[in-house]
Amino acid sequence: MIEVKNLTKSYGNVAAVQDVSFSVGKDQVLGFLGPNGAGKTTIMKILTGYHFPTSGTALIDGISVDENPVEIKKRIGYLPENVPLYGDLTIDEYLGFVAEARRIGGSESKKAIDASLEACGLKAWRGRKIETLSKGYRQRTGLAQAILHDPPILILDEPTNGLDPNQIIEIRSLIRELGQRKTVILSTHIMQEVEAICSRVLIINEGKIAAQGTPEEIAGTMKGGDTWELVIKGMGAQDVQFKLPHLGIDISSASSQQLEDGTVGLSFFVASDSGDTPAGERIFDWAVANGLKILGMSRKKLSIEDIFVSLTTDEKNPGEVQHNGQ
Ligand code: ADP
Repeated sequence: MIEVKNLTKSYGNVAAVQDVSFSVGKDQVLGFLGPNGAGKTTIMKILTGYHFPTSGTALIDGISVDENPVEIKKRIGYLPENVPLYGDLTIDEYLGFVAEARRIGGSESKKAIDASLEACGLKAWRGRKIETLSKGYRQRTGLAQAILHDPPILILDEPTNGLDPNQIIEIRSLIRELGQRKTVILSTHIMQEVEAICSRVLIINEGKIAAQGTPEEIAGTMKGGDTWELVIKGMGAQDVQFKLPHLGIDISSASSQQLEDGTVGLSFFVASDSGDTPAGERIFDWAVANGLKILGMSRKKLSIEDIFVSLTTDEKNPGEVQHNGQ
């Protein structure tokens, strides 16, 4: 449905997007995750036909965005980061104006407005002036204008930015609902947002793709794997460190700490592909073989937050993860 190939965009000598390629299938919800200035908005503006690429192509249903932006705009609903709403209009009047701009006329216009008010939970508010709405309801109004022409694709730039926690929950659930029947691309710098809404993630850093796939796929290609934390008894912290190589783990990732009650707190990474026996069993066998008692044991999966921090702060890591889905 969306095919981006070797997309590059420069503003003067600022290389905002560099050689980015990815594709999005029907009814997927793809998250663009990246720090501020990574190039997310630029890619979205190219996809929506508001900016032209410097080189490379973006195709929507096989139509090139720079060759036929009018056709592209029919297929896409766009919620920019700062949606231009007119405060002195009511929601109804504003959507009527958008319908006119989109050349939806007469009874079609009324149907389209009713449907998008319904989808965005705005029916009871339709006569309210936009300037009297809370930020959450303004964002709903922005979404209502984006879906007014019932486009198959929705592009949402930081849709929950500036909302309070309750409004964030509401807008996320609205996007999840829309994502069941539309292809959605949304940008965010909030890690939890992609975990809450997206089926696939594209991590963007300094204009380039640092990783893409499902959160699990990306985690699987990362060095480290899961973090294990143990509380053990039977040996001092120093001696435990010496026994660790027998566990077959990367001991540079291990730390041990003597706790007050004579126990030792131990933490280390275990790579997901490091052996046939599950890590938990290996740890247990290792403790028994060394006369240690395990008093506590927990495993923390690599989160999208860990991945994001690693990919956007460590120059070496991107080489170790999949590039452009290959
Ligand atoms: P993000 O959406 O990830 O925050 P942007 O796409 O807005 O990133 O910006 C990417 C880079 O391009 C940044 O360095 C930004 O300063 C620059 N940039 C964005 N828009 C313009 C513009 N109109 N003119 C010049 N530089 C721009």
